[in-house]
Order: sequence, then C-alpha cells, then structure tokens
Amino acid sequence: MSRKSALPPRPVRRFPAGVLRAAAVALMGASMGLALWHAAAWPFWQGAVLGACTGACVPGWFVLSRQRRQQTQARDTAARRQETTALLLHDFETQSDAWSWAADRDGRLTHAAERMARELGVATPQALLGESLLRLLRFGEGGPSLAMQQGFRDRSDPQMPPDLVWLMGCLAGQTPFRGVEVQVRSPVRRALWWSISGVPVHDEIGLHVGWRGVVRDVTKLHEQSSALERLAHTDTLTGLANRHMLQSRAEETAKALLQTSEATDEEALSPLSLYLLDLDNFKSVNDHFGHLVGDRLLQEVARRLQDCVDESPYGGVLARLGGDEFALLIEQPMHTVEREALALAMLATLREPWTPEDLCIEVRASLGVAAWSGPAHTASLLLQQADIALYEAKAAGRDLVRLFDAAMGERMVERHLVIHELGLALQAAQRTLERPDLPEAPAPSGRLSVFYQPQYDLGDGRLTGFEALVRWRHPVRGWISPAQFIPVAEETGLVVALGEWVLRQACTEVMRWPGAFKIGVNLSGVQLASRQIVRTVATVLSETGLPPHRLELEVTETSLLADPAAARTRMQALRSLGIRLGLDDFGTGYSSLAYLRTYPINTLKIDRSFVVSLAEGPQGAQADMILRTIVQLGRGLGMKTLAEGVETPEQADTLRRHGCEQVQGYLYARPVPAEEVPALLRAGQGLAA
Ligand code: C2E
Ligand code: CA
Ligand code: CA
Repeated sequence: MSRKSALPPRPVRRFPAGVLRAAAVALMGASMGLALWHAAAWPFWQGAVLGACTGACVPGWFVLSRQRRQQTQARDTAARRQETTALLLHDFETQSDAWSWAADRDGRLTHAAERMARELGVATPQALLGESLLRLLRFGEGGPSLAMQQGFRDRSDPQMPPDLVWLMGCLAGQTPFRGVEVQVRSPVRRALWWSISGVPVHDEIGLHVGWRGVVRDVTKLHEQSSALERLAHTDTLTGLANRHMLQSRAEETAKALLQTSEATDEEALSPLSLYLLDLDNFKSVNDHFGHLVGDRLLQEVARRLQDCVDESPYGGVLARLGGDEFALLIEQPMHTVEREALALAMLATLREPWTPEDLCIEVRASLGVAAWSGPAHTASLLLQQADIALYEAKAAGRDLVRLFDAAMGERMVERHLVIHELGLALQAAQRTLERPDLPEAPAPSGRLSVFYQPQYDLGDGRLTGFEALVRWRHPVRGWISPAQFIPVAEETGLVVALGEWVLRQACTEVMRWPGAFKIGVNLSGVQLASRQIVRTVATVLSETGLPPHRLELEVTETSLLADPAAARTRMQALRSLGIRLGLDDFGTGYSSLAYLRTYPINTLKIDRSFVVSLAEGPQGAQADMILRTIVQLGRGLGMKTLAEGVETPEQADTLRRHGCEQVQGYLYARPVPAEEVPALLRAGQGLAA
C-alpha cells in the first residue's frame, strides 16, 4: 500500500461561496435596475457605477466557477483515490500473506480483514469488530470463535507466551511494535503463527485515538524453520536424536554438573552415564540382504532400544550417531550395578531374532559404558571413555558389555603408543631393506625383523619349508608379540605396508639360503581385501627372483568370510601367479570343509588348539576324531595337511597315525632369526625328533 494513498486528501483553500454568489447577484440586479430606470438620461457618475458593478461582476463569476470546478475535481480525485486504496487493500489482504488491522485506543478492532476472520474461525470480519485484539490472540484455545461464543470466560493462562506479554506491554504503553510473533490456536488450521506490527494513531492535537497495523502469516516460515531445527537434531532414518544433539546435550549437562557437583568415586552414584552401542554383524546383514534391509534393521534396533529406554525408570536421550552406532545419555543418578543391568537389558532386547517377511536375522551388539566421575570430566572425555569401553567389548568377543575403568584407559594409551612407534619402526625397516649398504641408524622405536620356523614332512622327516613370522624388539619394552601388534596394525591399515615389508624381506632372505624350500608368509585379511595385493606379490616375486611355487601365502578363514566373493576372486588371481595358498588356523572358524573347497587352497594348517587337545582325556578322544576327519577330508579335496604347535612326541605320533603330512612346532624348532637358518640347515635338514 502506498504511503500517499493512506493520507487524507489535501483540503482546498476557498472563499465563502454563498457570500460571493449573493454579492454578484445583488450587483447585477442593481446595475440592471439603474439601467432601466434612467436609461434615457444617465449622468456620468451613474454610468460609471454601472460600469464598475458590471466590471466586478464578471471576474466574480470567473472565480466562482473555477472554485466549483476545483471542488468537483478534488471530490473526484478523493473518490478515485479511496477506490484505489480499497482495491489495493483488498489485493493486499487476499493475495499476500499479510493484512491490515485497526483498533481503537483500547485495542478493540475497528477494522478486520476477511482473512483474519476466516483463520480465527469467525463468520465475517464484522463479527470481529469491537473485540479486543489481545483477547482474540490470548483465548485461542479451542479457537477464538469458541471463546467469543462463550463470552471469553476468563481462563487466565499463567504461562502466557513471552511474545504476547511483550505485545500487551506495547499496547498498554502506546509504543509501536514490529514483528511480534504469536501463536494463534485456530480451529481451522492446527498451528498458526502471526507476526503482528502496529503503530499508535494520534489526532491533530496528539491524543492517542487508536492503532493501525499489519498482520503477517508466518506459519509456513515457522514450520520450515522448526523442520530445519528438527532436521539438525534428528537422525532422519530412525527419528532418534543425532550425534550433534547428543553431544551438545552431554556438554550442557556436564557443564551444569561442573558447577554443582563434586567428584564421585566408582561405587557412588554418578549423575551422568553414557552408553555406546555398536551392532556386531551389521555389515554382513547389509552385504547379504542389501541396504534396504540394512536400513530397516537400523529402524528396528532404534525401536527396540527406545522401548527399553521408555520402560527404564532412568529415561534418557537415545541417539543414532551414524552407521550402526547408537548412544544413550542418562542424566539420572545411577549406581554401577544399575548401569550394567540396563546395558544387559539393552543387549537382551536386541537378541530376539528379527523376522521381516520371510527372513530371520539375528542381531547382536556390543556396548561400552562410561560414567561422569567429577569436575575434571568433560563430555568429550566421557564419549572417549565410552568408546574405549566399546572397543574392549568388541575385542573381548562381541555381544558383551564393558564398563570403562582406569585400566582400560591405560591400555588405550598403550595402543596409541604401539600405533605410533610401530609406524616408525616400519619406516626404519623399509629403509634398511632398500639400502642395505647404509649403516643401521639408531632405532628408538625398536627394530622389526622376520623369524623363521621350520616345517617338516612327518613321513620322511624332510625339512620342507619355513613360516615367516614378524618380530618387533623395542628398546624399552623388549620383544612385543605379533599377536599384540598385528591386530592394531590391521585396525589402522598399517598391516598392508607391514605385510608387504615382511613378504619382501622373507623372499629376499630365503633366496640367500641353499635349497629350494617353501616359504610360508602370513597374509592379513586387510591385505587380502586390498586391490593392490596381486600386483604387490607379483612385483616382490620378480624383484627377489623367488620362483612362485616356493611361496605359500597363509590366509585365515575369518578373512575369507568378510567378503567371500571378493576373497575368492583375489585368491584365484594370486594362484594364477603360480604361488600356493594355505588356510591358517583351520578349525577355529565355522565353515565346513565342503564350503572351503570352493576356494583355491593348497594346504590346510590345522590349528594348534586341536593339537593341544590331543591325548587330554575324553576331550582328547574327541579331538582325535575331529583331527582324523579333517585329515581325511583334506586329502579327499586334494589339500595337504600341516599341524601347527606340535610340542610333544605323543602329539606327533597321533598326527602321523592319522595321516597328517607336515608338522611345525616347538618340538622340532622355535622360530629363529634369519642369521641362524644357515646353521640350522647345515646341522641337518631332517627331523630332530
Ligand atoms: P600363526 O600364523 O598361527 O603363527 C604361529 C604362531 O604359533 C607363531 O606365533 C609361532 O611362534 C607360534 N608357535 C609355533 N610353534 C609353536 C608351539 O609349538 N607352541 C606354541 N605355543 N606356539 C607355537 P607368533 O610368531 O607369536 O605369531 C602369532 C600370530 O601373529 C601368528 O599366528 C600370525 O597370525 C600373526 N603373525 C605373525 N607374523 C605375521 C606377519 O608377518 N603377518 C601377519 N599378517 N600376521 C603375522
Ligand atoms: Ca600362520
Ligand atoms: Ca596358525
């Protein structure tokens, strides 16, 4: 609406028209009378009077008629302007999201738009006239129309929204207001938001006579911004809170606790607990059944966990942090036992098989829990600790709960040290392999080397080969077992570079020894999963000149199971290089031999646990039988069998009786450094026993 059209038309300055008209008629009458009476002999002065009267009369007519014209024009303009204003106002009120309002000095409506009436559930705008604007807004519950019908029975709301309080203040203080947002409970639309602006109207002498203003419907804007806000705090897949929401909530609570609480000891009540849950088998569900089923599984998990939280007396904020990781933040005091009991209940609720359509999916999860223990405890530390506890739960075998404790923290520090120092040790080892001519540099992170454990033929006692086993000697910590650092290297991916170094080192060293032994090198599942592996092996073979049939790569059953199809393809590509493949730790996984025959495997390495169980009472008899079956089946499938960890002559006898072809173990030889191998070879290549 233009500012100009809102102003009243400017008044036209004018003479009193009646006086002018009377004077003109009188003058004309007088001059005509005189003219008739004395027409014959007029003295000069009479003629002059007549001339003057007539002379005055003519401009009088002119002035008069011009004023008339101006008046008519002004009236027309005002009417047109009013019409335009009304049209504009109508357009404005019907086509935009805003409409005007006017009220008297007490805030009672003197003008209301149709739109306003419609949205308030009132038949016509006229019905709103005389109603207090504030009361209409305030008594929205059940719709203002209902409140009007009931005569605004006073239901004073102790919790008036702050914007409405502000509006009340402005109306009472006669101060202009702009964009005051109030929620109107309309019977027509569920949640209605109006942004109201208004200015006080004063008369000529400055007295406050009323209000004039605009209402804008900002419902859509509100809906959009609250949807955005919801989105920023919600995980769209499950409807749970997201990581951002959980973190900020934990931070807020920890900050509040910092100001109010003191340190709590292990057994005391802790006011804040954080649970981190990770599904154990989500990746395989995704791989086997596809992402759609994976997504539905996550929704199912969210639903079950939410039920569990709803049933617990502690409540809490349940969130999905991303992927298959969930978290629960509890801001109620809990004892350690209670904390653990809830964690176990959460795992139990997931164990119930999930049966969408004709599928049956077993869900398992691991849980790490941490509790706030005092002012030094920040939210991020709490998250870190729950994460460490979760890591330990997974490492301990999954489907388990672990509560964070100090020892866990120390182990984690140790782990980080391993990651850091192993990397440095590997760099030094790679340098030495590339430039053996350079003097060895000091090694503050220790030295890596490869040890070799001989393998023998049980039939004729011949030395058939060696297994290459990596060793790490640290200046402070001494010998660190590969069983300790290989899993860490697998987690960080360092095992790819480490494995390549072991392979190159082993192939290089083996080529220096007399004889044509087989060399077994362990291949981690992470290496097998890497696309580079076939090229790496081919390069190492050509660089070192080792004939491919002398290399046997050992893979474990678990590394095949992660991605069976990809593993099979890669193994076939490796076999096409002419190398051999061994299946390590056989018997510790769950696959049947019939299943494993689909992989191009040359040697079955029977796990040490079977060998140890031999000749141990009734269990020994069972192990005996299993072993015999494995050997027979292996032979049937054209695979060689090699038993690991043979420590006693009795074990060796049993293995020989069952037809196992090769052995490796402390009974014959421990793994030895490369320098000792030539002596071992000179001493005789046959079985020591
Ligand atoms: P593994 O492949 O099963 O290696 C056999 C392990 O059994 C070796 O332990 C070896 O020293 C040990 N051993 C051999 N004979 C006997 C015995 O008679 N009794 C007992 N109690 N143990 C025996 P090590 O060298 O500590 O290696 C442990 C594991 O670390 C290996 O198990 C293998 O999984 C992994 N590993 C070792 N070197 C490498 C490597 O270069 N790359 C990869 N990816 N993993 C490796
Ligand atoms: Ca092995
Ligand atoms: Ca093994």
